[in-house]
Amino acid sequence: MIYLDYNATTPVDPRVLKEMLPYFSEHFGNSLSQHSWGWTAQAAVQKSRQQIARLVGARESEIVFTSGATESNNWVIFGLIHQWRKENPEQKIHIISTVAEHNSILKALEAASVIENVSVDLLPVNNYGQVSIEMLEKAIRPETRLISIIWANNELGTVNSINELSQIAKKKSIYFHTDATQTIGKIPVNLLDVEVDLMSFSSHKMYGPKGVGALYIRSRQPYVQMQPLHFGGGHERGLRSGTLDTPGIVGFGKACEIIYENFQDEMNHLQELKDAMIGQLRVHFPNIQINGHPVLATPNTINVTFKGYKIALYQDRLMSLGFSAGSACGSKNEYSSHVLKAIGLTPEETQSTIRFSLGRMTTLPQITEAVLKCAEVFKG
Ligand code: PMP
Repeated sequence: MIYLDYNATTPVDPRVLKEMLPYFSEHFGNSLSQHSWGWTAQAAVQKSRQQIARLVGARESEIVFTSGATESNNWVIFGLIHQWRKENPEQKIHIISTVAEHNSILKALEAASVIENVSVDLLPVNNYGQVSIEMLEKAIRPETRLISIIWANNELGTVNSINELSQIAKKKSIYFHTDATQTIGKIPVNLLDVEVDLMSFSSHKMYGPKGVGALYIRSRQPYVQMQPLHFGGGHERGLRSGTLDTPGIVGFGKACEIIYENFQDEMNHLQELKDAMIGQLRVHFPNIQINGHPVLATPNTINVTFKGYKIALYQDRLMSLGFSAGSACGSKNEYSSHVLKAIGLTPEETQSTIRFSLGRMTTLPQITEAVLKCAEVFKG
C-alpha cells in the first residue's frame, strides 16, 4: 500500500502526536478557566499561536483558531458580509474570486449570492490554473469589497502570483483573502512580504491533526474588521466562541514548528521525488500530459492525464495506491473536477486524470513501485 494523496490529508507526524498526548487527559483544562488547569491549557494554546505566527510571518494576535480551512473560508465570506451590512445595510457588495477555488469558497459564494444578495464574479484561469492580473484589474468595480484567490491549487499544485494580485487589491483598498491550505509548508509564505489581509489554512495538510485550522486576520494597516459566526463564551477575543481544542491546537503548532525548522530540506526532498516520478512516468507513458504549471507549482503535486485510459476502469486494480482521480478532498463526484474543466480538459481527459500528491513520508522506492504498478495495470 502506497499513500500518494497528501493533498487530501497527511498522517500526524509522530513528533506532533507526542506533543499532543498530555493535553488529552493530563493537561485537560479549559483554556479560559482561571485556575492552574486553565492556565496550563492557555499557555499551550499561546505557544502554538507563536509557532504558527512565526511560520507565516504574522503576529500572534492575527491568528484565530478554527475547525479547519472550510470554516476559515466560510467565515471570511459571511463574516465580512455581516460586517459590511452592519456598517451600511444598503450598500452593494461585489466579491471577486476564481473558478479554480476549493468548494469551501465556491459553495460559500454561491450561498452568499442567494442568501445575502451579493454579486460575485469568478475569474477564469489559464491552462495552468492561474488568474491573470489584467483580468483581475478589469473585474474590479466601485462596489468590490473582497478579492479571494487560492494561493496554491489543491488539484494542480499551480501557484498564483499572490504578491502582484494582492497589491492590486491594496491599491484599490479592497480586502484580499487567500486560501493557503495547500501552500503552507510547500512554498515559502511570509505575510510580511505580501498584501494579504486574510488567509485560511489547515493543520491536517501539514502533518497536524484534523479538525483544526486558522484564519489569519491582518491587524497592521488595514486592520480587518469582521463579524464572528460563532457566538458564545467569547473565546478567541470574541471572534470565534467555542472551547478550544487544546490537543489539536498544540499539534497544529508543533506541526508548524517542524516545517519552520526543516523547510528547505523538506522542499528539496519533495521536489526530488516529484521530478523522479514525472521522469519515470514519462518513460512508461510517453504520451502523458502533466497538468499545472511546470515551475510555479508546489513541489509535491503531480496532476497527470493518461490519455486513452479511463481511470475508473482500472481503479480496482490500483487499490494498493492511494491517489485522487480527477478531483479530490472527499468529493464523491470525483470525475467532474471543476478545476480540470477550467483549465480546458475535456470530460474524457478528466476521466483519465490522476492527482498524485507526495509528502514527508514518501520515499523514492515507493515512487518507483507506484509507477511500475500504473504501467502494469494500464498496459497489462
Ligand atoms: N481549501 C483547500 C485548497 C483545500 O485543499 C482544502 C482541503 N481539501 C480545504 C480548503 C478545506 O480544508 P479543511 O479540510 O481543513 O476544511
